[in-house]
Amino acid sequence: MKREIRAAARTAGFDQVGFAPAAPPTHAEAYEAWLANGYHGEMGYMAREDSVRRRLDPREALPGCRTLIVVSLLYGSTPPRTTAPGRRAADRTDASRGRRLPVVARYALGRDYHDVFEERLDALSAAIEALAPGARTKRYVDYGPVLERDHAQRAGLGWIGKNTMLLHPDLGSYFMLGELLTDLDIEPDPPFVHDRCGTCRRCIDACPTEAILDGRLLDARLCISYLTIELRGAIPEELRPAIGNRVFGCDICQEVCPWNSDAPGPDRPPFAARPGQPMPPEDMVAWAEELAALAPDEFRARYRGTAFSRPGRDGLLRNLAVGLGNSGESGVRPILERLRADSSPLVREHARWAIDVLPG
Ligand code: SF4
Repeated sequence: MKREIRAAARTAGFDQVGFAPAAPPTHAEAYEAWLANGYHGEMGYMAREDSVRRRLDPREALPGCRTLIVVSLLYGSTPPRTTAPGRRAADRTDASRGRRLPVVARYALGRDYHDVFEERLDALSAAIEALAPGARTKRYVDYGPVLERDHAQRAGLGWIGKNTMLLHPDLGSYFMLGELLTDLDIEPDPPFVHDRCGTCRRCIDACPTEAILDGRLLDARLCISYLTIELRGAIPEELRPAIGNRVFGCDICQEVCPWNSDAPGPDRPPFAARPGQPMPPEDMVAWAEELAALAPDEFRARYRGTAFSRPGRDGLLRNLAVGLGNSGESGVRPILERLRADSSPLVREHARWAIDVLPG
C-alpha cells in the first residue's frame, strides 16, 4: 500500500513524498511560545483556539487520522526575472538591474500554488480511494508556519533550518509543502534527524529587517513576506526602507543559503502561468499605473488564480509605493502624485511617505 501510494504521489506530480505518524508535532511547545510572543502578527487565524488545536494534533483535523502523507513541489532555484542572478542579496535591491524593477518571490509568477496543490492532492486522494475504498483523507496546503515543516521533517523530507524553512541536502529549500491526512495506518518513514546548518548563520545576518531570531524562530511582524502579502494595514514606517523594491514576498533568506547554491530546478515549473495569464510589468511605474486604473472587480478578474490576489489591488499598490519611494528616482514622482489621490487611504498614505523620501 505504501509503495503504491508513493507511486501515486509521483504520478500526481509531486517531487517528494514521505509518511509521518499522526501524532502531536515535536515543536508544539515552540509553536505555542511563538503565538504567546505575538510573532504571528495580524494572522489571527493561527491563534484561534480551534485552529491551534488542529495544528497541535492532526487527529483534531481528521478524527481517526493515523498518517500524514507529506508531499512537496519544487518551484525552482532560478531567480525570477526581476532579480540579478549570482549577486549577493544585499545587492539585489540596488541599481544592478534598474531601481524600478519590481522584485517578487520566485513562486509567485504564475499560478497560485494553493490551486496546484489542491488539484494534485485531490488526484492523490482519488488514487488512494481506488487503492483502499472507504479510506478517509483530508488535504492541507499551508498547514502552518512551523508545524507543516515539523511533519515534513518527521516524514524524512528535510530539516528545519535557522531560517525556519525546510531544507533538503540535495534539493535546497525552493519547494512548497502539502499534506494529505488519512485514517490509513501506514508505516512512517524515518525522520530526517541531521541538522546541516552547523555554525552557518548567513540567513540571520542577511535578513534586512532582522526577522529571523535565534532558536529557529521567525518574527513574522518583521518579515518582508508578511509585510507585503499578509499584512492588511500600513507597513510600519521604520521597516519601509529595508524592503527596497521587494514588492511581493522575499527570498533573501533562501538566496543566501549555501544549500540552495546548486539546488535543482523542476523539469516543468509546477506553478507555470496558464496560457494567456497576464504577467505583471517589469517596471514598478508601469505596474502601479496598471493597478491604479483597475476597479476592484477588474483587479479580481485580472489576477484571479495568482498569488497577487492575496494582498489585492490596494496591498500591491501600497507595496509599489514603498518600492517607488525606495527607488530614489525623481522620475517616479508623477505616478506617486497620482497614487496620493487614490481612492484607498492606505495607498494614499504610502504614496505620501514615498514622495517625502524621494530626493529633492
Ligand atoms: Fe542554515 Fe545557513 Fe541556510 Fe540559514 S543560510 S538555513 S543557517 S544553512
